[in-house]
Amino acid sequence: MRKPLNKIYITQPFGVNYDIYKQFGLAGHNGIDYRTKYNPDGKMPVYAVMDGKVLEVKNQGNVGYGKYVRLQHSGNEETIYAHLDSFKVNSGQEVKEGDQLGITDNTGFSTAAHLHFGWRPENYNYNNGFKGYEDPEELFNKPNQNNMYDVKSVLKNEIEEITNKDYGKTFNEKEQEGAADDLKASRKECEFFENSFKDATIKLSAYQDELTKEHELLEVAKIKLDEETAKNKNLSATLSGYVTKVTELNKQIEIQKETIEDLEAVNNQVAKDTSILDALSFAIKAILNRK
Ligand SMILES: [Zn+2]
Repeated sequence: MRKPLNKIYITQPFGVNYDIYKQFGLAGHNGIDYRTKYNPDGKMPVYAVMDGKVLEVKNQGNVGYGKYVRLQHSGNEETIYAHLDSFKVNSGQEVKEGDQLGITDNTGFSTAAHLHFGWRPENYNYNNGFKGYEDPEELFNKPNQNNMYDVKSVLKNEIEEITNKDYGKTFNEKEQEGAADDLKASRKECEFFENSFKDATIKLSAYQDELTKEHELLEVAKIKLDEETAKNKNLSATLSGYVTKVTELNKQIEIQKETIEDLEAVNNQVAKDTSILDALSFAIKAILNRK
């Protein structure tokens, strides 16, 4: 039995963070996450923890485990190694403890490079809330049943544990690195919201510009309307002036008509008087001729 990486630091233990994992129908984290970011790309060789057979080499894409390898060991025990970058084994292949399975990365449902390691014990219960997975710490802590009295193997494990211990960094330094990763993730989220806010602000100012233009057009239309209204008022005043004048002219025409009638009556009288005068003058002439 060995650990899946040459450096062991647990970033997320088994069973925690129900709020994150309930969306996958889990009672919590169904494995152990190990730190791999000892260099910026977080790429490390990952090893089979014990002898077995490759049950599955799969790429789930951007969801779930991403690229992962699942091994079957004696008694239907299983181990899984997830969020890998690439594979070093093929499905169906026999592997020995310590054989390299692939390279770690950040594929699938993962916010930063790490190794997700899961363990299903012999005769596991798929409905245990963790899809049959149990705390791998139990696997690493239990005595190797095949070699329970193999002192050499126990010593080998202890030497390996000591070799794998990261003495270069204090616990606080590791905590700080973890916090820095968290901060990076928060910053990314912040950036996303900031960008959304920027987009919204740009849209808003575009709307405001449009609104200002509409207002300006409205102002121009109001001024034109006022002008037209004023013109209409002037025209009505002029028109009512004309109406008054026409009425006056009509009155004058009536008066003149009456004058013409009077003149015609005078004319008639003159014509009558003239014919009387003609008759008298004719009579006078006749009298004179008789003499
Ligand atoms: Zn995990």
